[in-house]
Amino acid sequence: MNLSNWNSSFGPGPLFIAGPCSAESLDQLLQLAVKIKALGITVMRAGVWKPRTRPGAFEGRGATALKWLAEVKQHTGLAIATEVVNPQHVEKACEAGIDIVWIGARTTVNPFSVQEIAEALKGTDKIVWVKNPLNPDLSLWLGAIERINRAGINRLAAIHRGFTPFRPARYRNLPLWQMPLELKSLHPQLPLIADPSHIAGERSLVFEVAQRALDLGYDGLMIETHPEPDKALSDARQQLAPEALEEMVHKLRISKTSSENVLFMNQLEKLREQIDHIDRELIDTLAARMRLAEKIGEYKKENHVAVFQPERWKEIMNTRPEWGEHAHLSADFIRDLYRIIHDESIRLQTQIFNQSEQHDAP
Ligand code: PEP
Ligand code: MN
Repeated sequence: MNLSNWNSSFGPGPLFIAGPCSAESLDQLLQLAVKIKALGITVMRAGVWKPRTRPGAFEGRGATALKWLAEVKQHTGLAIATEVVNPQHVEKACEAGIDIVWIGARTTVNPFSVQEIAEALKGTDKIVWVKNPLNPDLSLWLGAIERINRAGINRLAAIHRGFTPFRPARYRNLPLWQMPLELKSLHPQLPLIADPSHIAGERSLVFEVAQRALDLGYDGLMIETHPEPDKALSDARQQLAPEALEEMVHKLRISKTSSENVLFMNQLEKLREQIDHIDRELIDTLAARMRLAEKIGEYKKENHVAVFQPERWKEIMNTRPEWGEHAHLSADFIRDLYRIIHDESIRLQTQIFNQSEQHDAP
């Protein structure tokens, strides 16, 4: 992908973006913009077309709100970001002088919609952010980013807003951190911005998600902020009041992605060497365990005993997390690890069961 670095022009360090879920009135936007600007934040977000899950919910103020956003921009100098769902929105956003448009999670899932938006963006100078799709599909997310990039837009970012859970969980949307990090390792030049508000879904949890993202080296944060969050017309539970935003901005620990400090780098190198050594041992140990599992597979086959032995599996799942806890490893981690190890043992033993017998020539 042909990407250009646009975010550093907004200043050093992670990019902070704040603003309401939805633009509700000029007064709301102006009140907020002044406070956001006073915190040194340079980009304001506000949705004017809201793709809602259920009909009848507040669907945004539409084109009228674009005029308010243009006024906020003129008045404060803040860069303005809004969501576009179709080519008409792109056209209207361009007319209103919006700086940044984002593609929402419900649009990223549909390549036809993304392609139409990409066509409409051709020849414009917009910065475009692509939110992850609702479902954890890295190719779909990447595909949407590529479609926009092929339309000649190279000022891009990926926004991580989490994935729809299949049962109630701590957060409104599952973060599944490994997926955005994989995207980052595939495209290190593509800025990765977290949207802790839509991940958390609840204002008391926004900080911990934001901190986690910064600790992982994210390039920015987008925080939904409202002058009176409880009265917000959309996403009321997750929006922060300006005072809470201020507190959060001051409390967040920002870590650098690398360091020039030679001492630190030397120490890091030494520790990494030790880890490399341990990883080799871990792999040798795992290989030895798998060879034993294969041997057991052969015995089971000879004795016509099934590959999966529920009692043994139960015993492993009872004892290993406990052993782990004695070694100060979290029981959940050990459970997850043994699920993977056990799956592989079963796979190897099944392979042995399916091998046709080698008949020696008479
Ligand atoms: C939003 O940013 O307000 C929004 C609707 O987000 P998402 O597409 O992540 O649900
Ligand atoms: Mn929202």
